[in-house]
Amino acid sequence: MATVFIALGSNLGDRSANLAAAIGRLGDLGLVTRVSPVYETEPWGITAQPRFLNQVVELQTDLPPHTLLRHLKAIETAMGREMAGPRYGPRSIDLDILFYDDLVLTSYTLTVPHPRLCERAFVLVPLADLAADRVHPRLGLTVRELLARVDRSGVQRFNVQTFSSNASTL
Ligand code: AMP
Repeated sequence: MATVFIALGSNLGDRSANLAAAIGRLGDLGLVTRVSPVYETEPWGITAQPRFLNQVVELQTDLPPHTLLRHLKAIETAMGREMAGPRYGPRSIDLDILFYDDLVLTSYTLTVPHPRLCERAFVLVPLADLAADRVHPRLGLTVRELLARVDRSGVQRFNVQTFSSNASTL
């Protein structure tokens, strides 16, 4: 059983619902053991697009890395991501493998740890909520140390509204 950290991002449609739906689908791939708070962040790359909601989850899974990646891409496709869209453009859901145990792997389709993890505050902030002391197996620095090196000013805590169907009305 591997411990995997997966980053989620959404900036199209009902962003909170997209995150929740994706986490539900990740539950089919193993056990989602922890979920970070949600953050709202300035878009990265192409800046003239809606703001993103970002979150990180911890997943315990028996799936090997490339199989897991295939399942993540299938979830993105099933949730209506425009696969022909520009890189870093709007998407209903984006799923990235950040860490897979302490594995260091570079292949044509998959790099672990995620190659842009250390420059992205919108990933490091929620990752630090779950795993601040985890050591990046390639860089030898903790997530907390990596976070201290980036500008986190564009990453704000987002309060997800939850409505209970049986809530009483006053
Ligand atoms: P993106 O546009 O960010 O969804 O990434 C596009 C491609 O990045 C995917 O189709 C993967 O083949 C590749 N990729 C490489 N490393 C990773 C990783 N750690 N997690 C997710 N995708 C990855």
